[in-house]
Amino acid sequence: MLKLPPLSLYVHIPWCVRRCPYCDFNSHAAPQVIPASNYVEALVTDLEQDLPLVWGRPIGSIYFGGGTPSLFSAAHIAALLAAIRARLELRPDVEVTLEANPGTIEYDSFPAYAQAGVNRVSLGVQSFDNDLLGRIGRIHSRQEIEQSLRSLDASGISNFDLDLMYALPGQTREESRCDIEWAINAQPRHISFYQLTIEPNTAFASQPPDLPTEDVAWDMYQSGVRLLEKAGYGQYEISAFAQTGEYSRHNMNYWRYGDFLAIGAGAHGKITLPAEGGVKRYAKHRNPRRYLQGLEGGDWLAEQRELSNEELVFEFFLNQLRLKQGVNIGDFSPRTGLRWGVVEARVQQAIENGWLERCEQRLKTTGLGWRFVNDIQQIFLP
Ligand code: SF4
Repeated sequence: MLKLPPLSLYVHIPWCVRRCPYCDFNSHAAPQVIPASNYVEALVTDLEQDLPLVWGRPIGSIYFGGGTPSLFSAAHIAALLAAIRARLELRPDVEVTLEANPGTIEYDSFPAYAQAGVNRVSLGVQSFDNDLLGRIGRIHSRQEIEQSLRSLDASGISNFDLDLMYALPGQTREESRCDIEWAINAQPRHISFYQLTIEPNTAFASQPPDLPTEDVAWDMYQSGVRLLEKAGYGQYEISAFAQTGEYSRHNMNYWRYGDFLAIGAGAHGKITLPAEGGVKRYAKHRNPRRYLQGLEGGDWLAEQRELSNEELVFEFFLNQLRLKQGVNIGDFSPRTGLRWGVVEARVQQAIENGWLERCEQRLKTTGLGWRFVNDIQQIFLP
């Protein structure tokens, strides 16, 4: 029953100029000199070890995430992309996204990344207000965002995303609205609009800042959604908005429970193995120094395991419930290897709660359910 879903490649670059106080990603303060050449070599060797998992399967998207991938020069990104092309079949229209931090972009960086093969950029602006940027510990200013946007324009990479956050320390509704307007004026094809949340084991968790109340945050979100939709950015996921057809293919594959090869420190992958009748998850060593030791020992894996039936159910629903298009019921069996009957009672419960509705072959989160996505997800917990 299992069938191969679309396949993407995720590449993790683990360093940042410095850690933001809210960040719980696998990011590490960059050493004086980043060992970029060694790291590229490690990524290629890591990829080679993963190849038997995906023989003959074409790649639809590549995503350089972090950390701050734009700390790597265009020459390093080009070398890496050339090595990837030599080892994997890429679809002709492959989407190649680079996450970039405006504080790390020189004026000529984006044209060079474009030449290297990057065709989409996700720019982590977070806010256009210098005071707010300072309060969340970002290294860049609005002026550097503007410089990055000019560099992007010169590069010919017209497919770009702006990452924006709301409910920042001391932020007012008006300031959140201004950020959205700045973002719309920059005319990206895609805008991600996230609420700042306090995650465990972060600097903000030990010294919490004064955040807007949940009601104010909800107002900011609703007003942001209205402004974005009025400006032609359709919402297709709780935090993702795009001009017509310009959604992030990489993220959509992730949300729709596609497959991922993952290379780099702390990268997590998921691969469907129909011949073995299962779905496997794996993770690479998190610490960059430990990861680089793989160059000597050839050992990149921190963990790997086959998912249980209950984990498959939970993971299948986890992100699709956040999609406006909802869950494609027809994908359930091919992507989990299970019969729809195993979730029927739980789905019915969510429908009775008014959280989900069935529209032909799709299950969609209702307006009410949109506010209770975490509760709906819990129904599918193992
Ligand atoms: S730039 Fe991004 S990845 Fe790096 S510390 Fe800040 S939030 Fe985390």
